[in-house]
Amino acid sequence: MNQEALNEVRPYRAIYRRKSKQIFVGNVAIGGDAPIAVQSMTNTPTTDVQATIRQVNECAEVGAELMRISVPDKESAEALKQIIPNCPVPIIADIHFHYRRAIEAAEAGAKCLRINPGNIGSNDKVKEVIKAAKDYGCSIRIGVNAGSLEQDLLNKYKTPTPEALVKSAQRHIKILEDNDFFNFKISVKASDVFLAVAGYKKLSEICDYPLHIGITEAGSLAAGTVKSSIGLGTLLWQGIGDTMRVSLSADPKEEIKVAYQILKTLGIRNHGVNLISCPSCARQAFNVIKTVEEVEKRVEHIKTPLSVSILGCVVNGLGEAAHTQIGITGGGNSKHNVYLNGQPDHKVNSDGLVDHIVSLIEQEAAKSKK
Ligand code: SF4
Repeated sequence: MNQEALNEVRPYRAIYRRKSKQIFVGNVAIGGDAPIAVQSMTNTPTTDVQATIRQVNECAEVGAELMRISVPDKESAEALKQIIPNCPVPIIADIHFHYRRAIEAAEAGAKCLRINPGNIGSNDKVKEVIKAAKDYGCSIRIGVNAGSLEQDLLNKYKTPTPEALVKSAQRHIKILEDNDFFNFKISVKASDVFLAVAGYKKLSEICDYPLHIGITEAGSLAAGTVKSSIGLGTLLWQGIGDTMRVSLSADPKEEIKVAYQILKTLGIRNHGVNLISCPSCARQAFNVIKTVEEVEKRVEHIKTPLSVSILGCVVNGLGEAAHTQIGITGGGNSKHNVYLNGQPDHKVNSDGLVDHIVSLIEQEAAKSKK
């Protein structure tokens, strides 16, 4: 896009960011001017140490900056001791109710505890968890969820409402603040997009703690991606959100990919290959859909920001190739045109097209790293 066009679209880009405090989850800054951190959660049994380590590493490979692991029992807390030293990103321990699991997770090296202090029990137990968090340099995430609101709030509001979500969050905030603990972030998730957006908006107006945003239980890969894009996209466009998780009934790696796609689309973060491709039609000079699927899979580990266009013919191909670092447009006689930085460079046959595109992307990524 040229400067004139950029100026014209600038007001529509998500350039405002809510001012929030900054906390750390291990070495990852959350809030303030830190990039919006992308996270996911393992779905292997935590006691299956090798499978969990493998999944964390696979997610980190495609860009996860934080990973959350459930700690439903003592054995899982024990397993964390072996898992955490083998993870390339900080681990968030997901705890429900039992304060001892939180303490054990902190001792095992978790860098954040997802726990609601109001659900732990007595004040003594809360104090013990906070002491462990302080001793081991752990932050906390208060995780309010429309599906598990306190009964008295449900009685009062009849149904989960934005006010009810925020009231619940305020209770947990007060407990931490009263115990002189401020190293925390908050989420108020709901599976209903409007409820989640309204809840986060309200919460963002009453505090400056960093916010973890998510549309919970969003659904399958396709449905959940749409739901998350609308919900999280709306929040991010309004400058709300310091770390995010896309919740899909799919491989956690897909959550990471979708999260980056949302951030890239909004111009908030640049990560990996930004692939522009056409839907294909009778004019396509090669199989666009198959080519794009294969290329996307083979370059998912690349984190260097790169723009690539793959279009089946010259109709829209030339225009897109002019604005991407690597551009492919279908040509006659199975000879396709390759553009580098907007300029025609060489031709490539249909045979080996995918290998050629992947190799160009890898070369360009390697160059950018130097
Ligand atoms: S770029 Fe060409 S092949 Fe692709 S959809 Fe447009 S006309 Fe069809």
